[in-house]
Amino acid sequence: MSGPVNAADAAPDTGAPCVDGAVVEVLEARATQVGGVPVRRLLPKRTRRMVGAWCFVDDFGPADPRRAPMRIGPHPHIGLHTVTWVLEGEVVHRDSLGREQPIRPGQLNLMTAGRGVAHAEETPERSAGTLRGLQLWVAQPEATRHGTPAFEHHPRLPGVDLGDAEATVLLGSLAGAASPARADTPLVAADVRLRGAVTVPLDPTFEHGVAVVEGEVRLDGERVGAGAFAYLGRGRDSATLDGRAVLLLLGGLPFGETITMWWNFVGRSHEELEDAADAWNRDDGRFGRVAGGLARLDAPRPGWRPLA
Ligand code: MN
Repeated sequence: MSGPVNAADAAPDTGAPCVDGAVVEVLEARATQVGGVPVRRLLPKRTRRMVGAWCFVDDFGPADPRRAPMRIGPHPHIGLHTVTWVLEGEVVHRDSLGREQPIRPGQLNLMTAGRGVAHAEETPERSAGTLRGLQLWVAQPEATRHGTPAFEHHPRLPGVDLGDAEATVLLGSLAGAASPARADTPLVAADVRLRGAVTVPLDPTFEHGVAVVEGEVRLDGERVGAGAFAYLGRGRDSATLDGRAVLLLLGGLPFGETITMWWNFVGRSHEELEDAADAWNRDDGRFGRVAGGLARLDAPRPGWRPLA
C-alpha cells in the first residue's frame, strides 16, 4: 500500500499537465503487489502524474490477512504526505517519530514526511476478515517539503448527505463539510458511496479525478468501472455521478511545481533522491528508527544511475 514507484508506473520526470476544461480521461490501474498484498495502482501513470498535489493512489486488497498478511518493513519517505484510508480490516502504522497507530474503517492516518521520516505497516496478528483500503500520497510544496515530519490520526471525519450518496470528507472541504486533517496546498479527498445519480459541487479552480474502488459510475455518459481512475480536468463547478459505486473523489489546485518521483521519494532532482536513498541505505540517522520486528527495505539503484 506504500509504494514503491518505478518506471512501470511513470518515469521520474514525466506526466501530462493539467487540462483546462471538463474532460473524462480514463486510466486503467496497473496490478502489482506490495508487502504481500495485491494492489491496483491508479496513480501515477506515464500520461497522468498528478491531480492537484495527489501523486499516488494505491487500492490494496481485498486480502485475507491470515493467509496473506501485509508486512511492509521500515522504509523512508521525503517530500510527501501518506494518506491511509481503510475500507475493511485493520492496519498498524509504526514510524520513526515513535508513533504506533492502528487504523480501522472510517479513520484517517496522515503522515507528513517533510525532510525525512520512516515507517512500517502491517496487519495485526489478531486480524481476521478481509483487508481492503487505499493509500494515497500528496506532494508537499517547496514551502513545507524541507520541514519537520509529523503524524496525525483522525478517528472521525465529517460526513455529507448528497441524496443518493453519502460522502466522508478525508481532506479539504466538500459541500460545506471540512476535514480537520492537514493540507499544505488547496485540495480535496472524499469517500463517496453512490446508489443513484448525484450532482457533487466542486471548486472550479481545482482539477479533479475519481478513483473507482467498487461498482461502476457514469461520468458525462462515460462508464468507468472498478480499477479505473477518471481524470476530469479543471474548471468544473460540479460533477454528476450516476451508478452504484464506492469511489474516491480527489481534487486540488494544479500543483505548479515540477516534481521528480522515484521509489518512496518526492523531490525536485535526481541528486536529491539519490542523497535520500544513500542516507537510508547507510542508515546514517537522517530517517530515525522504526520499532517492530520487520526487516528494513533497502532502496534500489535508481534507473538513471549507470552500473558501476
Ligand atoms: Mn510508506
